[in-house]
Amino acid sequence: MSGRIESTTLLQSLMATAFRECDAAARDPSRRVAWCSSVGPVELLRALDFTVFFPENHAAMLGASRMSTGLIPFANAEGFSPEVCSYMTSDIGAFRRNVTPLSRVDPSITSVPKPDVLVYDSNQCRDVVDWFSFYGRELGVPVIGVAAPRGVQEPTEDLVAAVASQIRALVSPLEAIAGRRLDPDRLREAVAVSRDTSDLWRSVLSCGEALPSPLTFFDGCIHMGPAVVLRGDPRALEYYRALLAELQARIAAGQGAVSGERVRLYWDGMPVWGRLRDLSDLLAGLGASVVGSTYCSSWVFGQLDPDEPFDSMARAAIELFIARTDAVKEMVLAGEALRYRVDGIVFHDAKTCPNNSNCRYGMPARLREGKGLASVIVHSDLNDLRLHADEGVRLALEAFVEQCLEARR
Ligand code: SF4
Repeated sequence: MSGRIESTTLLQSLMATAFRECDAAARDPSRRVAWCSSVGPVELLRALDFTVFFPENHAAMLGASRMSTGLIPFANAEGFSPEVCSYMTSDIGAFRRNVTPLSRVDPSITSVPKPDVLVYDSNQCRDVVDWFSFYGRELGVPVIGVAAPRGVQEPTEDLVAAVASQIRALVSPLEAIAGRRLDPDRLREAVAVSRDTSDLWRSVLSCGEALPSPLTFFDGCIHMGPAVVLRGDPRALEYYRALLAELQARIAAGQGAVSGERVRLYWDGMPVWGRLRDLSDLLAGLGASVVGSTYCSSWVFGQLDPDEPFDSMARAAIELFIARTDAVKEMVLAGEALRYRVDGIVFHDAKTCPNNSNCRYGMPARLREGKGLASVIVHSDLNDLRLHADEGVRLALEAFVEQCLEARR
């Protein structure tokens, strides 16, 4: 990634503090730890004073540190197929081997924080439920959650009411575990902070609209940490204010993340965590900047409204990109391509995540024919590098950038 973003130092310290807090909370009998899926009802957990840990973030760290591929077979040996989510299988493998990338952040952290409850939203996939259920069985802790719908075309009021009532139904079991009653003001406050964080994160990502873009998708994958791990925590707000100011200064100075940006691309689907830097360097070397992504944008929750906490949390869950129909996703992608003024889309077909791979049912062809949008498919995976072929991916991306340049000429 060219031109290091200075706020990265602040990011690292903030994330390390968050991980240390989780570790300390798990050791303190007076505190309660909840594990939450990345787009689960975290505001409710914050309002009840849970310290919140996100297994998906942990799994992404396993991928980025390249620990994941060697750990997956330990989950396969227990009957989890090599074809299912490699976040889940690498995380379960890490649990079995008693290793964690958190130790690389702070050597005093030797394991993931033991939870008191696991809370999910299955709007993203069923894997997250199986994943949490594994830990529920292993650790003897309750697993509760929300089954928000998938394949949503119209987010109707009926759907919102049904999901909101599921979120409300979590309050009583969570109060029993937390040992306190839910204070409606605390919930409003957590939703307000989440909403403000989300607005700032959206502004950060929108900096990618500038020519040249001051950040890439690969930067976004790193800097989204607080939007996931500290959603509902005021420290995330401070961080994104600092990052936004830095990016705006870069825009004012005409400083692009990729020097000599000559092709602009959009990324759809999961990152390849173990090849983040390699792909960033490869594309930067070709003068191609990946200026936006559906992945990083998935933590923009403009629906959140502190005056309607339950309904707005439900709306955010229902309108999540991954939970929509292909028709809606196509509209979103076409709009994003225009907004970011891209030359084409890179679709990542992540072999173990069909839920967030949108190129399998003709979408690239429909976008090409209907909207004139060029695209390439990269066959790989989020965490299983046995499914990634460096040479094949390099050739595909080089050819695609050349095709985009040709179209510009
Ligand atoms: S959405 Fe994909 S990557 Fe995320 S938990 Fe589900 S299967 Fe895994």
